[in-house]
This record gives sequence, structure tokens and C-alpha cells, in this order.
Amino acid sequence: MKKISIVVPCYNEEESLPLFYEEVNKVSKKMEQKADFEFVFVNDGSKDKTLEKLRELAKKDKRVRYISFSRNFGKEAGILAGLEHATGDYITTMDADLQDPPMLLVEMFDTLEETEYDCCATKSTNRKGYSFLRKIFTKWFYSIIGKISKTEMVPGARDFRLMTRQMVDAILSMKEYNRYSKGLFSFVGFQTKWIEFDIEDRKVGTSKFNFWKLFSYAIEGIVAFSTTPLVFAALVGVLFCVIAFILIIFIIVKTLIWGDPVGGWPSMVCIMFFVGGVQLFCTGIIGEYLAKTYLETKHRPVYIIKETEKDLK
Ligand code: UDP
Ligand code: MG
Repeated sequence: MKKISIVVPCYNEEESLPLFYEEVNKVSKKMEQKADFEFVFVNDGSKDKTLEKLRELAKKDKRVRYISFSRNFGKEAGILAGLEHATGDYITTMDADLQDPPMLLVEMFDTLEETEYDCCATKSTNRKGYSFLRKIFTKWFYSIIGKISKTEMVPGARDFRLMTRQMVDAILSMKEYNRYSKGLFSFVGFQTKWIEFDIEDRKVGTSKFNFWKLFSYAIEGIVAFSTTPLVFAALVGVLFCVIAFILIIFIIVKTLIWGDPVGGWPSMVCIMFFVGGVQLFCTGIIGEYLAKTYLETKHRPVYIIKETEKDLK
């Protein structure tokens, strides 16, 4: 019988965990005849009782495994740890908050079993429960990255997806430190079937992503999957050279014809500020790429494990 591994990154999810476990357990009962289940919970340095809850679950249910980090390393690190430790033939990543309906697993599993697809992914048709600002920026992000990245990012794509072992191995073969999962999933290719659903509000707890965390996550995604911003800096440089050249000719001609009365310093200051701003902006873009390269070359571990279910007595 095939085994499904359920990878769940958890950060302060003490309230969600029991509900989540219960719901997925229902699905596993429903699929009893078809597949075995394995839970791989990753406690991402939670400050509440998430770890205690995981220990309880692991004692109660042999299928429950967990990995507990030494501190908060972020959701991406959680996903990586989970994928690395999962042993199933099919592997799914899910949030602990039940915003993604676990019942979809039945359909996803059947699709992978019966068709040629390597992955069954989900996207939400709405963005219910998310703030107005978040919706707008999400829309902008997808339209920008859609234009400047060769890797396709599907708007509304969730991290909830069921993948074959082969696809997960391909994802794990990418050893980069700055991991932007949505890009990595798409980069490895393979056949993906998309299922749409209406996203639910978080049942309990609150979103772990505030505006700035999401904003820097978006920048991370762009830097990881496009080098177009670097080209942008060069293009602006060329454009400014051309403008400067035209201005020089204009001023020479003007001086030759009308002489050179002193004046125009306010416009000069404006131009200086503008050009200075553009230069700093472009340096900032280059700095962003340099910073990421710097982090990559350090080869630091993406996460550090403090405890797993094997440590339970
Ligand atoms: N999460 C995590 N580490 C973090 C932040 C979030 O493991 O630093 C987990 C969180 O516990 C949840 C999932 O990532 O299972 C998605 O988080 P959340 O539901 O808060 O995000 P949103 O739905 O607002 O995008
Ligand atoms: Mg959520």
C-alpha cells in the first residue's frame, strides 16, 4: 500500500493542532483501504505549547512524527525539514490552520494514482479573510513576477499540494539557502494538476505573517527567481546617459546663441536629488542580490533540530 506523508510547519499553533489532527485523521480513516498515513509536524520554534501538543500526539499515534527546531527559522525552513524527513511515496505540505480542506487529499491521491500527473496542487479562487492591503500587494506581486521571471508563479497558489516522491527528490536536490518554495515547486517542472477551492477563514489563532514579513518574502521570491531587476539598473543607467547627452548638446547650443546667464539652481538641485535617488535605488537592488549571494556562500544550515519524536521516552 502507498504511504502519504503530511508535512506541516507549525509556529504557535497549539490551538489549531488538535483540530488539524482530528480533521486529517478523518481523511485517513476514509482512505484506510487505499493508503497509509504519516504525519511530519515541524515545530518552528513556537513560544506556546505546540511542542507539548506534538509530544502528546506522537505518544498517542505511532504515525505522528515531529521535528522541533532550536528557534524560529521560518516557514520555508519548516517545509524543507519536513520534506527531508518524510518517508512516504506521496508527500503533501499543509498549513496547520485548516485553511486548506484536508478532504481534497482523497481527490489528489486518486489523481496521482490514476493519471500521469506528478503533482496535484491547489489554488484559492478568493482571498477571504485577508486584509485589503494584502490583497492588493499580492496581486501586484504576481503581476510583476509573472513578467520578470521565467519560472511560472500561479496566482492564488497555496502551499497545499500532493507530490510524488520523484518530484520531492528533485526539489530536495536544490540545495539553495534562500528557499522560495512556490518557485522551487514550479522550477522542477513535472505535470501539475490544479484544483481550485474557496479558502476558509483561519479556524483558530491568527496569521503568522504580518505585512512586512510578507513584503520581504515577496522580495525574496523576486530575487530568487529573476535577475531582471539587475538589468533594470543597467537600463536606467543607459537612459540617463542618453538624456544627459541630449542636455549637454542643448546647453552648448543655448550658450553659444544666448550667452550664459547664471541661473537655474533650483532645477539643478532637483536633478541632483533625482539622479542620486535613482543611483541609490539601483545600488540597493545590486546590494539585495549581493546579500543573498553572501548568505548562500556561507553554507549555513537552513534549520537546526533540537528534538524529534525519537527523543521521546
Ligand atoms: N509558519 C511557520 N513558521 C513561521 C510562520 C508560519 O511554520 O515563521 C506556519 C504556520 O504555523 C502555518 C503556516 O506556516 O501552519 C502558514 O501560516 P499562516 O496560516 O499564519 O499564514 P497565512 O495563512 O496568513 O498565509
Ligand atoms: Mg493560514
